[in-house]
Amino acid sequence: MEVIAIDPAIQAMPKVELHCHLELALRQATLKEFALERGYDVAEDKKFSDAFLITSPMGELPSVLHKFLNTRDVLDTVECLERVAFEVCEDMYLHSNVRVLELRYAPSFLLDKHTHIAADAMQDAIQRGVRRAEATYPMVVGLICILQRIKSVADNAKWVDFALNHRNGFLALDLADNEVDFDPEPFIPLFRRAKAGGLGITVHAGEPKVPGISKNIATAIESMGADRIGHGLQAIEDPKVIDLLIQTDTPLEMCPTSNWLTGACAGLAKHPIKELMTAGVKTTINTDDPGIMVTHLNQEFQRAHAHTGLSHDQLRQCTDWARQHSFIPAERIAAVWPD
Ligand SMILES: [Zn+2]
Repeated sequence: MEVIAIDPAIQAMPKVELHCHLELALRQATLKEFALERGYDVAEDKKFSDAFLITSPMGELPSVLHKFLNTRDVLDTVECLERVAFEVCEDMYLHSNVRVLELRYAPSFLLDKHTHIAADAMQDAIQRGVRRAEATYPMVVGLICILQRIKSVADNAKWVDFALNHRNGFLALDLADNEVDFDPEPFIPLFRRAKAGGLGITVHAGEPKVPGISKNIATAIESMGADRIGHGLQAIEDPKVIDLLIQTDTPLEMCPTSNWLTGACAGLAKHPIKELMTAGVKTTINTDDPGIMVTHLNQEFQRAHAHTGLSHDQLRQCTDWARQHSFIPAERIAAVWPD
């Protein structure tokens, strides 16, 4: 993958990250250390990259899924989780000047493999890591609980209760995973319950390049109470969906590198962020899976600038929208946002 130089002006911008998966954001040195400790044969960079990283547009899904699972599998103690939570925050601040950070994770995804960890202990460990980062750096961090659409409504209902019972930790609820084969409709009641309970709502919708998939954006807004949409770049296929995003003031959490690597857009230069922004949609710029996709928020800004032609002022506009639509309370953000 190309090494990209970051404009000093982009480096200097304080930033907001709204869409980052904690389990897939590990610092590479830490991921390699964990893997070696657990007996993976990944001392050589090439072997490490083959086992864990995604650096070119994906071929078939199973090999990519395998990399997600490898990463998840090494997160097998609460100590690992606390360290990773702290380091992800630290990297965001030190590397990309992120002041407002929302991290999301799927408790069911982690605990599927690590059945010896209690859910409360997992959540406590992640919160300890996050609180330590907030005490160390001028940043605020919030957590989002992810439901996996590949699992049953009954299974996911437990995690809605979990999120509602940890309101001091979770700000919002999300729905993620295979959008092509699993429709959002069965999960509508769960999202309505979460919203009624005071959680913010964001939904992965309109991500893969599949004709008609933008209907999931409409479902998320009209039936699930979505305050924001994860990705949503396929809104570009339907003017009615674009209108709906504008009328309901719903921003998109866009992730250029991830969208390119997963084939959601044909190349970085084909990413529709500028077109959607010009049409009047509130767009934001995020990393999605910075660890395994070898990116960071500065690089996402730089790529949006270099490949899609967003000006520095337009990049700042994306940050303003992200700040305004963060689930973290405005007064907490104000305390760390530079004048
Ligand atoms: Zn995502």
